[in-house]
Amino acid sequence: MHKKFLPVIALFFFISSNAQLKSPDDFLGYKIGTRYTPHWKIVSYFQHVAANATANVRLEQYGQTNEGRPLLLSFISSADNINRLEQIRLNNLRLANIAKDRAAPIEEGAPAIVWLSYNVHGNETSSSEAAMMTIWALVDPSNTKTKEWLKNTVVVIDPCINPDGRDRYVNWFNSVVGKNMNPSLSAREHREPWPGGRTNHYNFDLNRDWAWQTQIESQQRMKMYNQWMPYVHVDFHEQGVNNPYYFAPAAQPFHEVITQWQRDFQVTIGKNHAKYFDANGWLYFTKEVFDLFYPSYGDTYPIYNGAIGMTYEQGGGPAGGLGALTDEGDTLTLLDRAMHHYTTGLSTIEVSSLNASRLVKEFRKFFNDAVSNGVGEYKTYLIKNSKADRERINALTVLLDKNGIQYEFAGGSSRGTFTGYNYFSSKDDMFTIEGDDLMIHSQQPRSALVKVLFEPKSKLIDSNTYDITAWSLPYVYGLKTFGSKNKLPSANIRQLTLTNFLKDAYGYVIRWQGLQSVKTLTDLLREGVKVRFSEMPFEIGDQKFDRGSLIVIKKGNEKFGSSLASVINKVCNENNVEANTITTGFVDKGFDFGSSKIHYLKAPRIALITGEGVGSNSAGEIWHFFEQSIDYPVTLINANDFGRINWGDFDVIIMPSGNYRFLNEKASADQLKDWINKGGRLVALEGAVAQLAKTDWAIKSKKPDDGSDKKDPYAALQVYEEREREFLRSNIPGSIFKVQLDNTHPLAFGYPNFYYTLKQDDALYEFIKEGGWNVGVLKKDSQVSGFVGSSLKDKLNDALVFGVQDMGSGKIVYLADNLMFRSFWENGKLMFCNAVFMVGQ
Ligand SMILES: [Zn+2]
Repeated sequence: MHKKFLPVIALFFFISSNAQLKSPDDFLGYKIGTRYTPHWKIVSYFQHVAANATANVRLEQYGQTNEGRPLLLSFISSADNINRLEQIRLNNLRLANIAKDRAAPIEEGAPAIVWLSYNVHGNETSSSEAAMMTIWALVDPSNTKTKEWLKNTVVVIDPCINPDGRDRYVNWFNSVVGKNMNPSLSAREHREPWPGGRTNHYNFDLNRDWAWQTQIESQQRMKMYNQWMPYVHVDFHEQGVNNPYYFAPAAQPFHEVITQWQRDFQVTIGKNHAKYFDANGWLYFTKEVFDLFYPSYGDTYPIYNGAIGMTYEQGGGPAGGLGALTDEGDTLTLLDRAMHHYTTGLSTIEVSSLNASRLVKEFRKFFNDAVSNGVGEYKTYLIKNSKADRERINALTVLLDKNGIQYEFAGGSSRGTFTGYNYFSSKDDMFTIEGDDLMIHSQQPRSALVKVLFEPKSKLIDSNTYDITAWSLPYVYGLKTFGSKNKLPSANIRQLTLTNFLKDAYGYVIRWQGLQSVKTLTDLLREGVKVRFSEMPFEIGDQKFDRGSLIVIKKGNEKFGSSLASVINKVCNENNVEANTITTGFVDKGFDFGSSKIHYLKAPRIALITGEGVGSNSAGEIWHFFEQSIDYPVTLINANDFGRINWGDFDVIIMPSGNYRFLNEKASADQLKDWINKGGRLVALEGAVAQLAKTDWAIKSKKPDDGSDKKDPYAALQVYEEREREFLRSNIPGSIFKVQLDNTHPLAFGYPNFYYTLKQDDALYEFIKEGGWNVGVLKKDSQVSGFVGSSLKDKLNDALVFGVQDMGSGKIVYLADNLMFRSFWENGKLMFCNAVFMVGQ
């Protein structure tokens, strides 16, 4: 039984009876694992297999990357199954209760669907090599075992989720490796340069993006995933060179929605893998490190969507090269790494085939339970939709649509008073239902995902998790939400629409409420429209406008003549934003449009510091935001070029989280100070704030008060076995805190007087005492959701999180927490835009 796995190398030399169909070795012209295969050749091999094994394989290009590389899915099964592939897919959607039609699904004879995803982290390269070996084993005519499995199993292979990252790594590696590979980890071929191949074009980690789908690769892939809904999903990875192989079952914490069957089958799969690893004498571990909690991974997301989701981790990663010397003195080769992934891949297909009917039955049960009972204590999440929240609600519905989560608007008139958990007060409160309120019911196919994304606090059995511990969407989007234990009455209204029909007038006002407003601004600026904004609220007739409202008047826009109305109309309609006509500059309350409280908004020229020393994720989030979210020009500058830039060309410099050498050098630090004094606006994020705090001209760090520990004379005595627990006491892996905002300051325009922030470290800053503004501060008891180590819990308070310091004619904006974490922390993006477009105008 093992033999099909072990002599695989021999199989590669087997001359197939089908003269056309070639093994990877024959097709590529080299033995797999002896060099890296660039993405285009992997694509060629998958095309070759599809063209020469037509009865058993369908290949589909589902999209392309930012750099134009194709994204592929290969479907492999018996000829019978391939012939009725579309029926299998539709039947499967019926089993999951998400088919558009209401036809009854057929359980009997439905094949298991196993989806294998390779190389999501581009520099964990062995897996795409393994993907070629795996598809070959499935189509190789001499391999009768796999043919047996394919009778009741459809295998879906994504040979490379992240082609841009993979090629970044492979092209770099091939350019630095010598005639022979060098296994010494000191050799340069084991030291990948910034930003590395792990991430996609915009430095995003695609294995944190499954639920949020902020990236083009995820968006295109998830469309396919949701049209298929596999029963088993594997995400192939690599970890440090010295680590043994990791496979399921996963480590604690498991999210509580994970069913007993999902837990049990992880063990069944793990035991099947162990059989092969034991037979080969290979080392592995299970139940440690890789947990199942954060919802946006390639293992958890499939689990919350009814599948058995798993991560497999081979030692190697970017340091692996073609061969790497381990601590034990062995040379770990690319072939070894690929063989291990190949083995677990086939073993996964085998065990799924052996349990196909049970997989189908449990999959069906998962979705039947979801629809009839719903997961979690809340039957409906009601999200209040005041006028100021419109854009936040719109952004949330985009996310719900991406994930196939059903929702509706309340519609009609008010219908009484209800009681439910109020996310903003953290207790049960009364609420009413009004027309535009958004409702999400728990009884729906994606019930588990709804619970994971909406629950106010996730239950953590073990706090030692790999990732952030809080992502509850009402906080992420800043939306007033109630969790109701009773299902609230439905109205079945799917959409709220808005269309502007503006006529020629004195001017137009657009409220500043979210990213749609920002996109409206950047579109208007691109059209050459001159825009102003009000720093104070104002009223004209019965129209009330808050701070930050954008004002477009004829003055300055003479070149548009009477067509100004149609320009505003077009831009506002494209962005689904309301524009208000005003007939006079004489306001009833507030300041007239000629007042100095109304500011002309000069389009800022923006530089983003990037490159060596800068946090690549942080820089990537901002780069992606400007280009893909608000379509506004930004100039990327390498940190090492700091001394060679003409800074007078820029109004705003953004320093992402990072370690900036030029701040430690007096000449360049003086250059930066000089630029600020002359009117420059510096926006510093997270680690950049920490580094500025070490200079004598910026804000100061604040030591967390650790008085409590000192009272215990034995505090230093710790039990060795408890050392990981001890670490947790001072750990903050990513938790939600309520920040008090001064929303009269431009940095907080468009917000109420609070904001929910994702806190990922214990860096605290003193209040700015003079020459600046403490716009966002932590007061007492501000922690809302997620894990915070017990020794930190009472110390994270009375500190600045967001602030602005005046310096000469310029400003420094401090953003100590990440406002757009992984681009899914939606409600922070407006504040970032305030820092860039509003502050200092
Ligand atoms: Zn990985």
